[in-house]
Amino acid sequence: MKKTETVIIDGRAIAKNLREEISQTTDDLITRSIIPKIAIIHIGEDPASLSYTKSIIKISSKLNIEVDVHNIEGTTTNAHVIQELKSLNEDKKIHGILIQEPIPSTLNRKEISLSISSFKDIDCMNPINLGGVMRGAFPFAPSTPLGVLKLLEYENIDTEGKHVVIVGRSNIVGKPLANLLLIKGKGGNATVTVCHSRTKDLPFFTKTADILIVAIGKPEFITGNMLKQGTAVIDVGINDKVDKDGKHKLVGDVDFNSVINIASYITPVPGGVGPVTTMMLLSNLIKAAGRVSKE
Ligand code: NAP
Repeated sequence: MKKTETVIIDGRAIAKNLREEISQTTDDLITRSIIPKIAIIHIGEDPASLSYTKSIIKISSKLNIEVDVHNIEGTTTNAHVIQELKSLNEDKKIHGILIQEPIPSTLNRKEISLSISSFKDIDCMNPINLGGVMRGAFPFAPSTPLGVLKLLEYENIDTEGKHVVIVGRSNIVGKPLANLLLIKGKGGNATVTVCHSRTKDLPFFTKTADILIVAIGKPEFITGNMLKQGTAVIDVGINDKVDKDGKHKLVGDVDFNSVINIASYITPVPGGVGPVTTMMLLSNLIKAAGRVSKE
């Protein structure tokens, strides 16, 4: 079979371009005395989410975006988190609120997500905004699915009429992404199949994908022999892999080396979806700050 030359998508370069676009809008807001500000809430101390916050702080400092981090003990109560959200909802200087995952299972997630103002819900946690994504009319969509769509757009990978297979059905990645890809219009119009842990014969589905998007949290799970020649692969997974010498390494859900010369495109981990996701979050923040200024 003829080999495919695989394009390795440079998520960092795309993120840099997006940063420049956001910077222009931020400068415009600042001239109107609006300093975009995001509040990030951590409940407990998950290392991956603390590191995500660090990267948000670093990028925000270059964009004149203010970041307000709230660390809450993992043993907290629902009432305490809701009180904190209430005061952030009322604070006119805060334009966007991000609650970092994971939220401890001892808390009532539904109650908490409903308590984020839908106007400040920049990662689309509130079911009101998630419902908007399903209808195709929304102020904010979750940043990771938006990041995936942005990568496809930058690489001119058309979704119209394509069979897109998503592996993973979480509320923050797989399900909203499927809905966004179904939107009538540019960046949508795809035929979407969503697979999950109960899917029988996963390779049967992955082999029919024109575009394969994987978000399962299983290191290097998808291998080249599960693809047809020429599939565009977007790897959302971020996993900590310990090699036989005890060294830690970040890897995706796709076995990168085995898809080379089979996939038409592949996103590396790190440096693929992650940096673009962060920019989409900040893009949602700027949108929220702009909306407030029009009120
Ligand atoms: P999640 O909530 O744990 O959901 C995982 C999904 O994968 C579930 O739907 C699960 O199926 C499915 N799954 C698990 N094992 C499977 C298997 N063997 N075959 C088929 N499906 C399987 O995960 P998530 O929050 O969506 O995150 C997924 C990955 O993306 C993680 O590595 C996470 O770190 C990464 N992530 C990256 C970004 C980024 O910006 N780059 C953002 C968010 C998440 P069931 O529903 O049947 O259990």
